[in-house]
Amino acid sequence: MQDQSARIKIAVQKSGRLTEHSMDLLSRCGLSYSRGRDQLICYGENMPIDVLLVRDDDIPRLVQEDVCDLGIVGINVTEEARLDFAANGVANLFERVNELDFGHCRLSFGIPASVEFQDARSLEGLRIATSYPRIVEDYLRRKNVNASVVEFSGAVEIAPSLGKADLICDLVSSGGTMRAHQLEEVETILESRAALIQTPVKLAEEKATWVQRLLQRVEGVQQVRESKYIMLHAPRSALDSIRALLPGSEAPTIMPLDGRDDIVAMHAVCRENIFWETLEDLKDAGASSILVLPVEKMLA
Ligand code: ATP
Ligand code: ZN
Repeated sequence: MQDQSARIKIAVQKSGRLTEHSMDLLSRCGLSYSRGRDQLICYGENMPIDVLLVRDDDIPRLVQEDVCDLGIVGINVTEEARLDFAANGVANLFERVNELDFGHCRLSFGIPASVEFQDARSLEGLRIATSYPRIVEDYLRRKNVNASVVEFSGAVEIAPSLGKADLICDLVSSGGTMRAHQLEEVETILESRAALIQTPVKLAEEKATWVQRLLQRVEGVQQVRESKYIMLHAPRSALDSIRALLPGSEAPTIMPLDGRDDIVAMHAVCRENIFWETLEDLKDAGASSILVLPVEKMLA
């Protein structure tokens, strides 16, 4: 029987907006897995890593209490948990190790036509419905405003029409939900995206090595999504101006071209996407034979 404590446990949202992106990220890190019969655990087949599928709100606590070593969850949820732990005298122990490139949203105030909003002071004396009471209270405290926070666990946007609140503070990505409920988005109090969080507990050596390896792969996957490999020919005299046009590139490789002293080949990895405008600028700067290739894997 394998030692279960030697396996890394990652908490991922069971079913929701982060689920598919999180599982896709782990697959891109090379993890293949089979789903347990109860559908609550995915067992890693080629790495000592298992994925626990849970509600996103439970993820900070599972990592804080070392039930899971890692978790993938929105910063909105980690911030709310951090402030909630603090309010209850519990030190925040989980660490945010990596921000991820999905789950982008923002926590914003949405007001009905009856409310006038100029700045935070306009909220004085009003009732705000939200699923993020700690974050909203923290904001009000920092702005020195007295308003009451009404906690709603879902369907926050109907609170004003039910007469339960004057306005809401809720997550927005496109803004469609607020508009559909005749609410105007007026101010953002938190920008969020998914993040990878880690337990504070010191891991046994073998486990720590795997966590390190996984974090490095996560980093690599994130970089690769945008990165491009570019090859071109450049006059020696234009090398500096051409380099300056390449977005996010480190020292490029310069190679001589057979029989030509004035022209060299330049190869570089760019950590950002390369758009047509950049290619046109490169050509104007003297580059020719420009090729842009996708990067499949990267290990810094
Ligand atoms: P659970 O059942 O796991 O508690 P949930 O209903 O709380 O699910 P989802 O709506 O699936 O959660 O959202 C999960 C996370 O996705 C949010 O906490 C947030 O970080 C992110 N997110 C991105 N865009 C949005 C959006 N427009 N609305 C809500 N959450 C968003
Ligand atoms: Zn949730």
